[in-house]
Amino acid sequence: MGALPVYRWRLAPDGYATRRQLRARGLRPGGQDVVATVERPRRRREPLVAFLYRIDRAKPVRPMTPGRWAALAKANAARRTCPQCRRDAGYVIPASLGMCTTCAFPDHAVPAVRPPLGTCA
Ligand SMILES: [Zn+2]
Repeated sequence: MGALPVYRWRLAPDGYATRRQLRARGLRPGGQDVVATVERPRRRREPLVAFLYRIDRAKPVRPMTPGRWAALAKANAARRTCPQCRRDAGYVIPASLGMCTTCAFPDHAVPAVRPPLGTCA
């Protein structure tokens, strides 16, 4: 690599940004090469070096694609699926139970078919 321009800390030209600064704007370097560095002098140590990228060549942080949405939906569906009965509970399975409430509390699941108390055949 040829010599990159080196700027003093905080004196980098407009249009250049570090990876962190790009990230704060929702951008990423996007495969471009480092265009310059900034150096912050430190007493009796090597200067602190940061790499600069061109903002106009930066790309937005990976946008949501249909594939990523689908993966997200699948992950959410998995979180709603009871590992016990394999049914979609319709809500996220509570980690404390590890299963849907129907499986966790079977006694409370079907109160309607219980025989009424105090009846004799
Ligand atoms: Zn269940």
